[in-house]
Amino acid sequence: MREEIKNFSENDQNAAEIFRIKFIGSNGSVKSLMSEIKNVAPENKREMGKVLNDLKLLAESKHEEIKKSNGDQQLSAAKSIDLTLPGDALPMGGRHPISIVRNKIVSIFQRLGFAVAEGPEIEDDWHNFTALNLPENHPARDMQDTFYINENPVWLLRTHTSSVQVREMEKGVLPIRIICPGRVYRNETISARAHCFFNQVEGLYIAENVSFADLKQTLYFFVQEMFGKEIKIRFRPSYFPFTEPSAEMDISCLICGGKGCNVCKHTGWVEILGCGMVHPKVLENCGIDPKKYAGFAFGMGIERITMLKYQIKDLRIFSENDVRFLKQFTSAV
Ligand SMILES: [Zn+2]
Repeated sequence: MREEIKNFSENDQNAAEIFRIKFIGSNGSVKSLMSEIKNVAPENKREMGKVLNDLKLLAESKHEEIKKSNGDQQLSAAKSIDLTLPGDALPMGGRHPISIVRNKIVSIFQRLGFAVAEGPEIEDDWHNFTALNLPENHPARDMQDTFYINENPVWLLRTHTSSVQVREMEKGVLPIRIICPGRVYRNETISARAHCFFNQVEGLYIAENVSFADLKQTLYFFVQEMFGKEIKIRFRPSYFPFTEPSAEMDISCLICGGKGCNVCKHTGWVEILGCGMVHPKVLENCGIDPKKYAGFAFGMGIERITMLKYQIKDLRIFSENDVRFLKQFTSAV
């Protein structure tokens, strides 16, 4: 028992109490050994008493030692806390893929001197339609199924960010060189390729002597910066009420390089944006003299560019907040 007492481990936080119960408490082994003295032969009692008393003193002094050493440990633990250390790091999030691509698009056009312009998502009929050469009953209004505000049908959720362009033109400060990123709304059936809300970036450049060649070169620079120098472009004639002539622009397929695959429907080309020269009527509506000024405009869906860039097949995933998807975009750019 002497060995056992000497070698008792002090590491446990409650070592002193465990020791007390085991050895010197009322049911402890030292105590019970002392009660055995009555069974010892009378001539040995004196010697046995001395041995047991030594054992008791040993146990008591060990108990004191454990108490002191545990106290010191707690004190030194308190002293070792360094209050100047930085706190635990919080997990870093990443940007949403739509934000990453929007920022990239914006930075490319900023290098060409375009400034960012923003406007309200709840618009009036004039800025969203009429000023853009879509008068009431114009069939082209059917192209953009619109959410109207019941209380006041003149108000609506903007169907494109062209309304921001109108607001900028109305300010009358020329030349104008802007891009307008933002969320837009259309009353469409939600599917893998369409949603009732999505993000656009539109661009507008108005100055003297602006030509279609400027439009083409600007957009060519953009797709090369966005997708790589190997990218080819082509324009197809199209129709938009607010531009004349109008075109849709395709880029060579990123997947097959133009040979033909499922993504490009075996044509080698994928459509990425609509563009054209600003219609003289639109300039007039916004108080700009179409005889003196000309301009080009273009617009693209950020979801579409993002899907092409990251090979995403279903655009509904952008608004589902699924962390398994979002975690794959940890870039902080
Ligand atoms: Zn392809």
